Amino acid sequence: MFLKVLKYPNPVLRKMSEPIKEVTSDILQLAEDMWETMMISGGIGLAAPQIGKNIRVIVLLTADLGNLIDQQYPYCTMINPEILEIGGSQYDTEFCLSVPGKGKKVRRPETVKVQYLNPDGKIEIVKLSGIKARCVAHEIDHLDGKLFLDY
Ligand code: ZN
Repeated sequence: MFLKVLKYPNPVLRKMSEPIKEVTSDILQLAEDMWETMMISGGIGLAAPQIGKNIRVIVLLTADLGNLIDQQYPYCTMINPEILEIGGSQYDTEFCLSVPGKGKKVRRPETVKVQYLNPDGKIEIVKLSGIKARCVAHEIDHLDGKLFLDY
């Protein structure tokens, strides 16, 4: 189901999101709807606050990330994602579905090691680099009420 993407300066985008205590079927359905919304909107990542839910869930397009690929869908759901380590830096233009038509150059780590719960409720740890590191850093910022415009 396609969900409405909230636009800046909606105050929901500025709230701190709550951790998920239990991975329920409602959460998994929400992640699926977020993925559909992201794909239709042409994004490569989406965070729950962007569709009006202040909970710590993000989805990323990961078609070439072998072990992250859900068996059925080319996206990765990260629940309660946390960056454990960062390395290097990259400086490139970023965009956001909540801030249509505006790009801004933002400095991000070149690599991030991130821990999260997968849809089975199991802890996974993965190291991402390049655009995927940028994307996960951008989406986790959304969970903390931060936007790329703040940099
Ligand atoms: Zn965004």
